Amino acid sequence: QSIIELRRVFKSYSPSTGKKLFSREENKPPVNALDDISLQITAGEIFVIVGLSGSGKSTLLRTLNFLIQPGSGDVLFQGQALGSLNAREMIELRRSQIGMVFQSFALFDERTVLDNVAFGLEVSGVSRDERHKRAHAMLEKVGLAHVAAQYPHQLSGGMQQRVGLARALVVNPAVLLMDEAFSALDPIIRRDMQSLLLVLQAEQQRTVVFVTHDMEEALRLGTRIAIMEEGKLVQVGTPENIINAP
Ligand code: ADP
Ligand code: ADP
Repeated sequence: QSIIELRRVFKSYSPSTGKKLFSREENKPPVNALDDISLQITAGEIFVIVGLSGSGKSTLLRTLNFLIQPGSGDVLFQGQALGSLNAREMIELRRSQIGMVFQSFALFDERTVLDNVAFGLEVSGVSRDERHKRAHAMLEKVGLAHVAAQYPHQLSGGMQQRVGLARALVVNPAVLLMDEAFSALDPIIRRDMQSLLLVLQAEQQRTVVFVTHDMEEALRLGTRIAIMEEGKLVQVGTPENIINAP
């Protein structure tokens, strides 16, 4: 059964609300960032959305937790339409069920690595000792227990993104959204991070939705791959399907 479902989702941006380079862009038609997307994601899969820059991947990912609201259509999480949730319920869902990892890490520089990871548990009424215990266990899983007391700026990019991953996973969310999460990393570190994600996934199958512009990464990580072009999903299938497609 699908954990996430999109039904005929559209999202357009009027060019005047975006970054304006030339005043004549005022007269351009709206951009269809999402153009009639229907999609079902099954629990436990790594669903990779791949496409060129500007094809709508990030917009699609952000509609899955309503950081971006679709112009029309429905997004369902475990059968429930996100549009029917109130603001408090939406925040609670993001906090406890749908974790997110960003390309730019988005860590808190003034907090230690341990406190960055424990942060996700702070609002859930978990005691301080228990937060630190769980954060430590999560840091061990990503191979960073030895830098728990350090600050993000003291770490390499790859290590910072391990912290980002640990922070998202410590609350044990059903779904993990990853937006070009490894794209800023050096190739070798990037490969390590891909391996880490696959190891974590083998231990505990979570639903991962992974956005990348890199087909090689998509083929390595994806149990299914969706190819996006100009706001549309032009192909969805297993890596084998994608490789063998005409
Ligand atoms: P991708 O993640 O594949 O690079 P995006 O989802 O970021 O694609 O963008 C899809 C399209 O929507 C692009 O044409 C982009 O310029 C446009 N777009 C994205 N966000 C905005 C915004 N806030 N305002 C205006 N246009 C936007
Ligand atoms: P980029 O792809 O340019 O590196 P990111 O994907 O890291 O950027 O982040 C893009 C957007 O996500 C930013 O506008 C930022 O404000 C927002 N963002 C970053 N961290 C969080 C967070 N923890 N929760 C919600 N939004 C966030």
